[in-house]
Amino acid sequence: MMKTHTEKQALVSRILTFSCVDGPGNRLVIFLQGCNFNCLNCHNPHTINHCNDCGDCVAVCPTGALGVTSKGVINWDSKSCTQCDACIDACTYNSNPKVMRYTVTEILAVIRQHYHFLSGVTISGGEATLQLPFIVELFKRVKSDPELKHLTCFIDSNGELPLTGWDKVMDYLDGAMIDLKSWQQETHQWLVGRTNHRVVKTIEYLAQHDKLFELRLLHIPGRSDLDSEIEGVAGLINRLPITVQIRLNAFQHHGVKGIALTWPKCSKEQMLAFHALLTSRTQHTYLLPTIYT
Ligand code: SF4
Ligand code: SF4
Repeated sequence: MMKTHTEKQALVSRILTFSCVDGPGNRLVIFLQGCNFNCLNCHNPHTINHCNDCGDCVAVCPTGALGVTSKGVINWDSKSCTQCDACIDACTYNSNPKVMRYTVTEILAVIRQHYHFLSGVTISGGEATLQLPFIVELFKRVKSDPELKHLTCFIDSNGELPLTGWDKVMDYLDGAMIDLKSWQQETHQWLVGRTNHRVVKTIEYLAQHDKLFELRLLHIPGRSDLDSEIEGVAGLINRLPITVQIRLNAFQHHGVKGIALTWPKCSKEQMLAFHALLTSRTQHTYLLPTIYT
């Protein structure tokens, strides 16, 4: 396979070849490593940081799939790996030794293996937009490829990307899914480590450009404030086109580490009460969780 030195590359933590929950239809999802939020409730904390090559996970690997090169860089042998995730459990740095670097050409080759069965491609994370030049290049090439141009190109994002960043990808973007985790700045800062100014701007900007496919609201009873700040949240939803679907996510413990494990999970009753607050103030379509674990 031909690679050029100028070709954009991405740090990829995982590729899911079929998903029906990451945008419309059947999608290939590319999860990029690295995030600029540090959510207390993160359910994939091993995607937050880039590995610092400390080597602490090497000894826990039961199959010898991990090692450190003579240059002090962690090395992962995918053929020996059984995906037991003992290395991820051992990492105290919220990282992952199984990250791989892919060029745009290499990702296109993966997409090409599956495109007959796909509606589109979604870039997720971590925070996808931290590797925006790669995404722009990938989407451009999907859209100009005779075999792949029918695929829709979506981004799943925390919304922190400035509007100038969204402008760079807008021409190649079919839709985005954006999370809103809290309403008050203080609550958002406490929960994710940053305010939500840019997130709200992103939501409104993408909606103006008809690119907001889905707004996701996470309900963490007693910790986030989307229910107690319902008038503000409903006001934002009412400024969005009626075609934007709203997905309600219930806080659960799966994958979560640290303090958030002491928080009660969101029950079905609590979710239905939140849903009722929203539906009494807005006309949008809401997708509710099907499982509460
Ligand atoms: S994945 Fe974590 S434990 Fe393993 S080398 Fe990287 S930072 Fe260290
Ligand atoms: S997931 Fe793979 S690399 Fe990590 S500990 Fe298990 S076998 Fe080793």
